[in-house]
Amino acid sequence: MSNCIFCQVISRKKAATVVYEDAEIFAFNDINPQAPTHILIVPREHIATIEDASPDILGKLLAKATDLAKSGGLSAKGYRIVINFGDHAGQSVYHLHVHLLGGRWFSWPPG
Ligand code: AMP
Ligand code: ZN
Repeated sequence: MSNCIFCQVISRKKAATVVYEDAEIFAFNDINPQAPTHILIVPREHIATIEDASPDILGKLLAKATDLAKSGGLSAKGYRIVINFGDHAGQSVYHLHVHLLGGRWFSWPPG
């Protein structure tokens, strides 16, 4: 989708620090990081929300998030994986994305 920020990142029309890519998945650093590690893992295909996604792609996105956590050295201390959906959760980009956050303590319950 041409007016989607993450589609522009995936097509390299918009700059980002890419940390992983394959035929289905793209991962890049969040432009406004909320932790020392803050990576967004997204499908190459424009899928607006978690409710529009297949179990297959959801599984692949989550598996890649844990792979990146392991390879990034986050497993020893822990990390958080987040998917926001809709207004109450603060979803601001309507191209499905998994947040991988690590490198500091996170409070619970979330704000
Ligand atoms: P959410 O609030 O869950 O929709 O998260 C959207 C995330 O996308 C936020 O953490 C933003 O900082 C991030 N973001 C927005 N635009 C860009 C961009 N061009 N490159 C990287 N991250 C972005
Ligand atoms: Zn998109």
